[in-house]
Amino acid sequence: MSKKSGDTTAKVESLFKTFMKEERLRCTQERLSVLREIYRSNTHLDADELFVRLREKGVAISRATVYHTLDLLFRYNLVTKIDLGHKHTHYEKSWGVANHLHIICLKCGQVSEATSSELPGMMETLCAENGYSLGSFSMQLFGECLDREACAQRVKNKRQEKA
Ligand SMILES: [Zn+2]
Ligand SMILES: [Zn+2]
Repeated sequence: MSKKSGDTTAKVESLFKTFMKEERLRCTQERLSVLREIYRSNTHLDADELFVRLREKGVAISRATVYHTLDLLFRYNLVTKIDLGHKHTHYEKSWGVANHLHIICLKCGQVSEATSSELPGMMETLCAENGYSLGSFSMQLFGECLDREACAQRVKNKRQEKA
């Protein structure tokens, strides 16, 4: 782990602890383990993936606790929810992460992250025009890979994984 990501995790942990204290919630190891796992990861995870990862690491956590903790983290602005075109929600860390959007291929499911220097200003204006201040944003664009061959290969690989 790089020094930077260690610092981020420590900072986010202390924020989480402060928020929970304000709401008189117990700061359990299980809840902290959800936060740590998300901040350790660089991908988008759904609640079940998180649950499986934590169980594999020997954390005695229930599915319900994973869901509840994710709700808390979302409310405290420490994770964002994203819709990657699946039936379930994916989560990703948001503290210290630049606002970005996701481009998702509807055929193979590949996800790319993109940023634009113009986007935050545009979003701020949009929010202000509608009477809001901008917190964070998370956006999804759905399309299809331009590289059809690579896309078809990914679809094939996925089928083989499932088989
Ligand atoms: Zn992302
Ligand atoms: Zn594709």
